[in-house]
Amino acid sequence: MAKIAVIERKCVGCGICQSSCPFGAIDMKDGKPELNAACRVCGICVRNCPESAIVRLETRTQSVDKKAWNDILVFAEISGGRLHPVVTELIGKARELAGPLGFEVHAVLVGHGLEGAAEELTHYGLGKIAVYDDPQLGYFRADAYADCVEAEIKRLKPSVVLTGATSLGRSLAPRVATRFHTGLTADCTTLMLRENTDLVQIRPAFGGNIMAQIITGNTRPQFATVRYKVMNPCVREEKQSGEILMRPVPENVYASRITCLSVVPVPPVKSISDAEVLVVGGRGLQKEEDLRLVQDLAKQLGGDWATTRPLVEKGWAGNERQIGLSGRTVRPKLIITCGVSGAIQFVACMNGSEHIVAINTDPDAPIFQVAHIAIVGDLYDVVPRLMESLKGGGRA
Ligand SMILES: Cc1cc2nc3c(=O)[nH]c(=O)nc-3n(C[C@H](O)[C@H](O)[C@H](O)COP(=O)(O)OP(=O)(O)OC[C@H]3O[C@@H](n4cnc5c(N)ncnc54)[C@H](O)[C@@H]3O)c2cc1C
Repeated sequence: MAKIAVIERKCVGCGICQSSCPFGAIDMKDGKPELNAACRVCGICVRNCPESAIVRLETRTQSVDKKAWNDILVFAEISGGRLHPVVTELIGKARELAGPLGFEVHAVLVGHGLEGAAEELTHYGLGKIAVYDDPQLGYFRADAYADCVEAEIKRLKPSVVLTGATSLGRSLAPRVATRFHTGLTADCTTLMLRENTDLVQIRPAFGGNIMAQIITGNTRPQFATVRYKVMNPCVREEKQSGEILMRPVPENVYASRITCLSVVPVPPVKSISDAEVLVVGGRGLQKEEDLRLVQDLAKQLGGDWATTRPLVEKGWAGNERQIGLSGRTVRPKLIITCGVSGAIQFVACMNGSEHIVAINTDPDAPIFQVAHIAIVGDLYDVVPRLMESLKGGGRA
């Protein structure tokens, strides 16, 4: 990377740089040149400046010995005293990535009273299970947790660090990544590991209009967060493996500036992400009362109901019922979409569902590209017939 800089004390304000710039990238402000965003660092101004007041600065690209950073470390988040379900999903993905490169997958646990969680982790084919257990870590304090994860990264030197895109993970991962002056990609939907150990981190960008491929090529470790329900969970093995390592807690933990005054437990709320069967209403529904169709079908199937974003925007449902990039990611066993077109922002967060049934009047609706069963028809006709046939246990 290079950039152009003006040495103000040498500049006499002649303006030759401005008139010689082919990109119009130089503005004269108070008699001195200022570069704007159009600069291509071509260096013509540098060559033309009679006072040698403009210089081209070369910034050296940081390089890293990638061979010194191996394996994958998963942050094993504890939620409500147990492993957060995203942890087994991260381990599943990590093991898939690690296999071809001969990497191992390790986990780091931070908290208090972690014996059970550490023991549970021995069923997931891990190498090392590093445990930072101390009463000071009994509740999440971003600085103290970051100290522990930082310490573990310094010990293990993992190539990749994976964290759940939970509220805790979203607070922790950037803090730790900053300490290593390395990159972090949030909310990855796909991860691939190249032979040279570069992690290809894929996530929707620009409102889901593109899938961005992000690489942290010049630094290590490579940090990525992944939302719950995006990756397949690792299957629990009866056989135990892995080495539980009780680590000393870094001194800084005791100097944390964060104090917990009180803990107010949030009552558990049923989330559409946990439903095994979901019926989803989209803008094909003409009025709010018609949501009843979706709700009734969901009830009949023993499932839950959800909506697309336009219905939330209309105020027909709360945000907690919205599937999509700006809502929740779901992965039920069965999802039935009714009057949903299948925009990328919606599909990206439900296409991991086991069985997708789509009802839409438009045979070209994009939702049919991901549906396992496509019903081209009017939801006002199809849904009641489906419910009727379910009552009789027959076919619609
Ligand atoms: C930054 C950004 C983030 C976004 N995040 C989200 C998000 O999290 N979740 C989300 O859902 N959207 C999101 N969107 C919006 C998204 O782009 C789409 O606009 C939205 O998903 C469309 O919702 P829909 O399918 O209900 O409506 P529409 O696209 O209007 O589709 C309605 C469908 O119903 C069909 N239909 C009409 N009448 C009937 C009938 N009687 N029977 C059967 N079918 C019928 C039509 O053929 C049509 O395909 C986001 C957009 C942006 C820019």
